[in-house]
Amino acid sequence: MKVIVVGSSHGGYETVRGILADQPNTEIQWYEKGDFLSFLSCGMQLYLEGTVKDVNSVSYATPAGMSAQGVHVFVQQEITSVDAANQTVHVVNHADGTERDENYDKLVLSVGAVPFELPVPGHDLQNVYAMRGRDWAIKLKAKTVDPTVKNVVVIGSGYIGIEAAEVFAKAGMHVTVIDLLPRLLSLYLDEEFTDTLTQTMADHGIEAATGQSVQSFEGVDGKVSAVVTDQGTYPADLVVSAAGIKANTAMLDGVVDLDDHGLIKINDYLQTSNENIYAVGDATLVPFAPTDGVNRIALATNARRQGRIAAKNLLGTKMAMPAVSGSSALSVFDYHFASTGIKAGTSEKLGVQSASVMVTDTARPKFVPESAGNAKVWFKLTFDPTDGRILGAQIMSQADVTANINTIALAVQAKLTVYDLAYTDFFFQPGFDRPWNIMNVAAQKAVKTLA
Ligand code: FAD
Repeated sequence: MKVIVVGSSHGGYETVRGILADQPNTEIQWYEKGDFLSFLSCGMQLYLEGTVKDVNSVSYATPAGMSAQGVHVFVQQEITSVDAANQTVHVVNHADGTERDENYDKLVLSVGAVPFELPVPGHDLQNVYAMRGRDWAIKLKAKTVDPTVKNVVVIGSGYIGIEAAEVFAKAGMHVTVIDLLPRLLSLYLDEEFTDTLTQTMADHGIEAATGQSVQSFEGVDGKVSAVVTDQGTYPADLVVSAAGIKANTAMLDGVVDLDDHGLIKINDYLQTSNENIYAVGDATLVPFAPTDGVNRIALATNARRQGRIAAKNLLGTKMAMPAVSGSSALSVFDYHFASTGIKAGTSEKLGVQSASVMVTDTARPKFVPESAGNAKVWFKLTFDPTDGRILGAQIMSQADVTANINTIALAVQAKLTVYDLAYTDFFFQPGFDRPWNIMNVAAQKAVKTLA
């Protein structure tokens, strides 16, 4: 069997890995239109802050390493069209300008997404950057040490925007984060968390300009000089635009079914509307456990799961994609937070009725001194008020307690209730936590609201 895999980031890599693991004799052609195989944007902040020194190390695989495993790797070669009826793709080789067609038995699309470009005047000025992929990583890195950059404006306060803000604040620049929504990180955390994080960011020179819509970018000599919103003008030597992403699916229009946002429609087995074409990653919708519906959640974790499962299905082992909850974590200066599933602030938009309980406590028993790492913990559990089904949770602390959220993700996937969680057996040792884990405490509080 000949399989063509398009895209070399998380989804593409995992598909290739999955095929190699299950049927290593499969003929695999792996295509990447960029000039670098398998760059991982997840590692970008670590590179920009200098923890990781070599941009080229932020990768899963090298062409040589994959070729040694029998994979035919094609870098700087773009799939520009798909002929689904004849099972061929058209390949443009950007290195030498040649073109050719290749046939496939199975095609896997992990074409991902590109940063959404705000359609406002001045969007094409110099120093309006994005944060995705190796080329932007290199350009952003140069700006972290550019003495002419004093003011940075970040547009978008999702985790990518907040990572960018932290990078430039740590590099000594004044940073403004603009967002249309009324709070920073509001799709990830409720107010009880973002109030503290917003104050922490302010303490580190990051100004929040929320509830504002960008109207234009102003420029001097072709370079951006300010961002104008409906409520103010913010000086900018550099703009990092992180206002969402757009699925990279223009070439698939009319080939496979797409939704209104250009996302590829797939079934539980990662098949598109054409049974021999599979799709994974940011260009697809994922099954969403809290609602039993689908959702758009652009995360590497989803792309990797989908890639593994697509590999199994195309090789003949039928396996459905498990529903996911959009679990993610991030550090903001000294704070670590994680969340999964539905929050009070997102439930209405998802059409879900929810209730929540909030618990604040110390990470360990009171007798453990703060100097030994006994920090305050914020935990919020969200559940269905009719039957107690767990829908999601958020956690934050200066101690790293984020792993609790993985437990909640499992609870959501398994459709557990607050009754299950209230007395679940979690370990206790004063060096780690308290006799009643904060998840037990929150669930017990939730049970009382249902009684
Ligand atoms: P993409 O990463 O978008 O890659 C698609 C690849 O396909 C690209 O290399 C592109 O050049 C190539 N391609 C596209 N079309 C063609 C074509 N026609 N022919 C040939 N090649 C093509 N997720 C997490 O889970 N945890 C994190 O901590 C995290 N941090 C992130 C930080 C940043 C700054 C960013 C930007 C993202 C982060 N993500 C994180 C999200 C994660 O990176 C994405 O969910 C993931 O990369 C999606 O993988 P993908 O394979 O769908 O596509």
